[in-house]
Amino acid sequence: MTMLDRRLALLGGLAGLSACAAQPTRFPGLAVNEIPPVLAPVRANKNRLFDITACLRPFRAAGPRLDTEMLGDTLVVHNYGHGGSGWSLSWGSGTVVLEKALARGDGNIAVIGCGALGLTTSVMALRMGCGVTLYAKDLLPQTRSVRATGSWTPDSRIALRDPAGPQFGDLWERMARISWKTFRSYLGVAGKPVEFADRYALSDTSFEANRALHEAQNTLGFASYGSRIADLTPGGHMMPPGAPPFPTKYVRRSENLQFNLASYGHTLLGEFYAMGGKMEIREFHAPSEFTQLKQKVVVNCTGYGARTLWKDESIVPVRGQIGWLVPQPEVTYGFNYRDVQVIPRSDGIVVQLLEGGDMRGYNDGNEAVDRAESEEAVGRIAELYSRFT
Ligand SMILES: Cc1cc2nc3c(=O)[nH]c(=O)nc-3n(C[C@H](O)[C@H](O)[C@H](O)COP(=O)(O)OP(=O)(O)OC[C@H]3O[C@@H](n4cnc5c(N)ncnc54)[C@H](O)[C@@H]3O)c2cc1C
Repeated sequence: MTMLDRRLALLGGLAGLSACAAQPTRFPGLAVNEIPPVLAPVRANKNRLFDITACLRPFRAAGPRLDTEMLGDTLVVHNYGHGGSGWSLSWGSGTVVLEKALARGDGNIAVIGCGALGLTTSVMALRMGCGVTLYAKDLLPQTRSVRATGSWTPDSRIALRDPAGPQFGDLWERMARISWKTFRSYLGVAGKPVEFADRYALSDTSFEANRALHEAQNTLGFASYGSRIADLTPGGHMMPPGAPPFPTKYVRRSENLQFNLASYGHTLLGEFYAMGGKMEIREFHAPSEFTQLKQKVVVNCTGYGARTLWKDESIVPVRGQIGWLVPQPEVTYGFNYRDVQVIPRSDGIVVQLLEGGDMRGYNDGNEAVDRAESEEAVGRIAELYSRFT
């Protein structure tokens, strides 16, 4: 494919499959059913950043805390510490903790926290016929959860290999499988709370070299479990040289599940209220305050907040920052290029610098926004598009 062809394919000169099929030489090596649709360019300009958010992943080396404890006559079931995987694992994690919470036959439960874990756990408990009161200091729009990338990333900074041990892999797999199946029911729903989008990995160096670099950067030994669910998730493939409408030497295409969190949050809250869930704004200052609730089964979904509330110093902050470009509904694909991740969410185009791999932001509790970081990320994707000229 010539540079001009690439430019046409990217900018809309090739009007979809029928035109592509009529001009197969523009996509050498690609079967007709593999030809990408017209790809609109992201308008990568720092002036289009309408928000920049920073947040902390609640990481625990041994994996999320899902055990129980008794405080007087109150059963507390923990559900926190999901690192960079909280949205992805939420439904599976909720299943695991509700099995423990409901074991005593008391269906009147309190859930503490209105982030990814608290909301999904509440919705699941309501579906099971429980009475649920959700207590939280902040509602979803103010939580850290809403500042997430919004991608299916079930083993992103979820644990370290050795502290988690082999048994956590089995638990992780169960949670990931339950979650994946549950997200299925949100596909095709009005407002697209959850959807699939094409994702391109773009590189001028080989992916083997990139993988080796990421392994070398993984000095702590973050666990990786993705191969356990390879049968579930769509597989990616290398695109033949010259075929894809991108100017980089190596291009890999896959399909990824993404969460449009504005819409997804509304959908979850709608379900919560429709099924009779009750919500109370309340801050807890010590675990003993849980025993003052009228509910005697409490699910603790306080995320990073558990570090202070439960004095759980096993939670390590992993900082992450996102620059939000004005949404472009015509951009239907995401990509990674020069350590920048771009996700085409309906509530904003996510632009995130990932340099440094999983160690990036590790043990950094600074939630102040660094504008220069997001402008650097936008600059790198502007440079990608400048290569088309
Ligand atoms: C930059 C970034 C990108 C991410 N991307 C993804 C991704 O693509 N996919 C994915 O699956 N995950 C991702 N994550 C991880 C995900 O966001 C977290 O795992 C998840 O948000 C944790 O949710 P939570 O409900 O446990 O915590 P939170 O969202 O922090 O919610 C905690 C709730 O508890 C309440 N609370 C806390 N303390 C108290 C208290 N003392 N009293 C009363 N209420 C309290 C809070 O008000 C809040 O309502 C990302 C994280 C970051 C930082």
